[in-house]
Order: sequence, then structure tokens, then C-alpha cells
Amino acid sequence: MRIDLHTHSNRSDGTDPVDVLLAQAERAGLDVIALTDHDTADGWADGRRAAEELGIGFVPGIEISCKLNGISVHLLGYLPDPSYPELAEELRIVRDGRTDRIPSIVARLNGLGVPLTVDEVLAQATGTPSVGRPHVADALVANGTVANRSEAFDRFLADGKPGHVSHYAIDPGRAIDLVRAAGGVPVIAHPWGRSSYKVITADTIARLVDDHGLAGIEVDHQDHSPESRTTLRGIARELGIIYTGSSDHHGVGKIDHELGVNSTEPEQFERLLEVAKANAAASEAKVPEVYLP
Ligand code: AMP
Ligand code: ZN
Ligand code: FE
Ligand code: FE
Repeated sequence: MRIDLHTHSNRSDGTDPVDVLLAQAERAGLDVIALTDHDTADGWADGRRAAEELGIGFVPGIEISCKLNGISVHLLGYLPDPSYPELAEELRIVRDGRTDRIPSIVARLNGLGVPLTVDEVLAQATGTPSVGRPHVADALVANGTVANRSEAFDRFLADGKPGHVSHYAIDPGRAIDLVRAAGGVPVIAHPWGRSSYKVITADTIARLVDDHGLAGIEVDHQDHSPESRTTLRGIARELGIIYTGSSDHHGVGKIDHELGVNSTEPEQFERLLEVAKANAAASEAKVPEVYLP
């Protein structure tokens, strides 16, 4: 059983349509894939349809933009009801904030002498309700300013660089509450990745488990060193929560994140499905189903 629980399509900032992503997952020999686009469930129906055609397992999920003490944190929500009113409303505010910041990013880049328009950015984000920095990067590639997304982030868009403007994001405790209220399973994405390591300490993880019912943490992720993975797995075991592994695949938008590069142990996936069942039963929300062929 090979299980990849974190991937992106072009419904957010991945580069492949959902059906292409699913076909690639099947070809890569994966048995189960979760689609976890940023702040949107738009790709779920296409994902489910493609999964049934291909005979590959499909878990609908969302990667929710959170912020703790001003630092970006990502929360994976598996199998929540995306139309659960309070969750839907928060996600709408996040997506609006994503779009609303684009003019500020463009103005900052223009201030540095970089030619770019808002329309050029939006042209890279057609079909997605969730515009992100990677789309700004794609626009910079398209107009010849940089060679690829990496160069755009390194020079302009990474946290702390001049073209980085943050957007509204949800407090992680509240996001966990909302995912559970919507019948889903909350798992912190890459807790010791690029920025979140600053705020997601072992103590914070324990607090989110105790006070909010955090169900798990992503451990095997390309942003984590071997040492971090060992330590994080130890933290998960000590707290009795689930640990997962994933590629965080973005199509050709992120190098070294090939489908299946990390995976989730079947035993951990079984636990996740059990928590999903329990959280769904405790909620009045209308949760989606896992598809397992
Ligand atoms: P945002 O749209 O601001 O939420 O940006 C988050 C997206 O940008 C995620 O897909 C990240 O993986 C990607 N990202 C953030 N920092 C970098 C970086 N330094 N290099 C490449 N991609 C990045
Ligand atoms: Zn992304
Ligand atoms: Fe993330
Ligand atoms: Fe991601």
C-alpha cells in the first residue's frame, strides 16, 4: 500500500489539472492519494470521478492557511464538509485575502523596477479560486523576469523578501475546531517546514492536541531533515497522535516533490480513517466519503 496524503492541483497552485494528477498518481504506483489544495475543495468532484475511473483510492482534503503569532502555519483537513457554514465562511475570507493582496505584491515589485501587472498574475491563476505567490512567480517566469518559480521565491517572494505580502489566515486552534466541527480530521502540515518551525514547538503541538483535538502531524515531508522526522515521530508517538508522510506535490511547480517521494504508513492511514469516522459521527455536518477501490 502506497499512500500519499498531500498533493496540489491547478485548482490552487499545483500545475496539473485534477484528472492529470490522479492519472500520474496511478502511474507512479500509488494506491491512495489525497487532494489537498490550498483553501478550496473545488477539485474534489473531479478527483473522485478520476479516482473511480482509474481505480485508485481518493481522500478529499484541504490545506488551510493558518497563522500563529504572525507566522504562517498550514493545517491539512481530511474529509471535512466544505459547506459547513463557519468553515466555508472562513475559507472564503482567506481566498478573498489571497486575491486582495495581489495589487500590493505587484506594486512592491514594480517599486523594485520589476515589470508586472495584476492581470498578468490573474492570467496565471485562471480556474482557481485560490490565488497564491506561485501564480505571481509564474507571471514573472512568463514575462521573462525569472527562469522558474524557485528563482522568483529566492529573489522576490519568499517570506521576508521584498515582494512578500501576507494574507489573512486563520488561528490554528480555531481552524482545528472548524475542521472537527465539519466532521473532518485535522493534521498539521510540515510542522517544522520553512516558517512554521518557529511557532509549532512540541509544547504547541501538545496544546493543540489537548485543547482542540488535533489528530496528527505530517512527519515525512521534503522540508524536514532526517533528524526532524525522527524527533517529530517521537512527539507524535508520545502524544498518541497520527503521523503522516506525503509528497506535497505541485506538478512541475516544485522540484524534488515527486508523487510518492514520501508516504503514509498503512497503519497510520487506518487510524486516520477511524478518527474520520468518529469525528463525522460527532458532527451534524455532511462529510464526503473516502473512495477506496
Ligand atoms: P501563499 O500563496 O502565500 O500561501 O504561498 C504558499 C505557496 O508558496 C505554497 O505552495 C508554498 O509551497 C510555496 N512557497 C512558499 N515559500 C516558497 C519558497 N521559498 N520556494 C518555493 N515555493 C514556496
Ligand atoms: Zn502550494
Ligand atoms: Fe503547505
Ligand atoms: Fe501543500
